Amino acid sequence: MERLIFHIDVNSAYLSWESARRLKEGKEDLRLIPACIGGDPKKRTGVVLAKSIPAKRFGICTGEPMGAALRKCPQLVIAPPDFSLYQQYSEAFLAICRQYAPALEQFSIDECFLDMTGTRTTYPDPIALAYEIKNVIRDTLGFTVNVGIARNKLLAKMASDFEKPDRVHTLFPDELENKLWPLPVGQLLTVGKTTANKLQKAGIATIGDLAQQPAARLQAMLGKKWGIQLHAYANGIDHSPIIDVPQKAKGYSISTTVEDNVSSAEQANHILLTLADSVSARMRADGAKTACIAVSIRSNDFRNRSHQCKLHQPEDTTQVIYETAKQLFSALWDQHTPLRLLGISLTEVTWDENEQLSLFADPKHEKERKLDRAVDAIRKKYGMDTIARGAVLGDKHIVGKKYRAQVENKRKR
Ligand SMILES: [Mg+2]
Repeated sequence: MERLIFHIDVNSAYLSWESARRLKEGKEDLRLIPACIGGDPKKRTGVVLAKSIPAKRFGICTGEPMGAALRKCPQLVIAPPDFSLYQQYSEAFLAICRQYAPALEQFSIDECFLDMTGTRTTYPDPIALAYEIKNVIRDTLGFTVNVGIARNKLLAKMASDFEKPDRVHTLFPDELENKLWPLPVGQLLTVGKTTANKLQKAGIATIGDLAQQPAARLQAMLGKKWGIQLHAYANGIDHSPIIDVPQKAKGYSISTTVEDNVSSAEQANHILLTLADSVSARMRADGAKTACIAVSIRSNDFRNRSHQCKLHQPEDTTQVIYETAKQLFSALWDQHTPLRLLGISLTEVTWDENEQLSLFADPKHEKERKLDRAVDAIRKKYGMDTIARGAVLGDKHIVGKKYRAQVENKRKR
């Protein structure tokens, strides 16, 4: 089956997103005036991260120091970056794209690939569909995108980079000669400045020149692997698949209904420990941490109550989650009403790959993290029931299977 790939790219993402927010607040549209996103305007430090088209007319470039930009254009409006805003808009834009595509690969905060292969019956006209996606994003979220349509990822991405903003471009095999080959060789994806210079010196000025070279010559010039790849790219060949990674969970929750009503704090704590242990292990397996823990209870007359608390920093250890849940529970429960359900949920989840090293790292906390990792590893190999956390944490009571069996594990979307 012929592949059909869309590449969707937000036009000047950071500036557009800031503008969309300002417009909602009744403020000026930064896209229409000389403006940029960048470092602290008061201190004149930092660099330009994104600029408006009017700012570009003053010769302001991305990556330029803020002081230099202000000399070129003293009336330049500078907005500080706001990555949580970007994250929100990014998610909103991907959510719209997901509604149309059987598979989606996020490529960066403001770019994604959609695999539309085999959707002819649903969407007979791919170009009309691209316009629809583009317009829905513009009309509901307030910023524009470019859509590139092609038979593979490489060409879809090249196509979305053609004239901007708010445009749809195709780059099908019969269009390579007119649309791709006349471009300077440095514009081919993955060709950096050094390679572009090298190619130009060898008389290869355009992507078309590159496509027509004998592959052997390119291999001799650039090395075997790189030579073969660039030759294929220049000819519009790319077989890389769309990698659709499941959306990350927004939070993790777990709850259990108890057979005999819970009527003592001791009983409740044992259950909370089992729940904390299970839900945090699941979160750790995803490499996530939580900054907000909530406990919910249901009394035997079916009244629900919950209590939550924010943490000073994201956490993932069973110990911290259990201790917090225990405190929340004691603040929540009147100590006599019988309970029939207990639950813990973890929200404000983050995936900080470059974990911040605290200056005040607590060696005890580090020990707990190591313990968690060891327990997780053993369970991964031998099963969840091989180690009961109650024993591990020095609690003499081991939480029984009676509770475990009814535990309901949920992944929040
Ligand atoms: Mg972009």
